[in-house]
Amino acid sequence: MIQVCYYKGCGVVYGEKEPLSDKAVTHGLCPKHLEISLKELKADVEKLVNSTGGLKVLIVEDSRLFRDLFKETFHDRFPSVEIYEAVDGEEGLQKIEASRPNLIFMDIRLPGENGLEVTKKVKARYPSIIVIILTGYDLPEYREASRRYADYFFSKDSSTAENIFTLVESILRTHV
Ligand SMILES: [Zn+2]
Repeated sequence: MIQVCYYKGCGVVYGEKEPLSDKAVTHGLCPKHLEISLKELKADVEKLVNSTGGLKVLIVEDSRLFRDLFKETFHDRFPSVEIYEAVDGEEGLQKIEASRPNLIFMDIRLPGENGLEVTKKVKARYPSIIVIILTGYDLPEYREASRRYADYFFSKDSSTAENIFTLVESILRTHV
């Protein structure tokens, strides 16, 4: 598969991914735009931490495995960060109402309303919450809608997770 950058009209082919014989296109961020996106995210999260005094994270994800992994990593690396979880959009909205997180990691494929619809509602009601969509699926309509409603859109892979954890770490080290 050919990897093409989706960042605002970039369109650069930055790599290939298994299966190599398959010439289908999959989208992601080229190294330059990954760096830019992470810098933008870092600036946003920094602003958030400065104005609210700390991070409160919600993960909306139906896969228990992914949720647990994410939670454990957060707990281990950032014991000061409050972390909440929800298995679908409905529970997600309840948790937002009750716990007022300021940073949300949202899966797209959820039982009931999908993560894009949930994100749209969240941003309409709470525009200051940063929503990061994490997805394992690369569909053009997801990307387009994500760009419209969410603040960030990353593919769900280990290097992205590591990049985000490193970013949170560097912010918390200097601000908390
Ligand atoms: Zn690019």
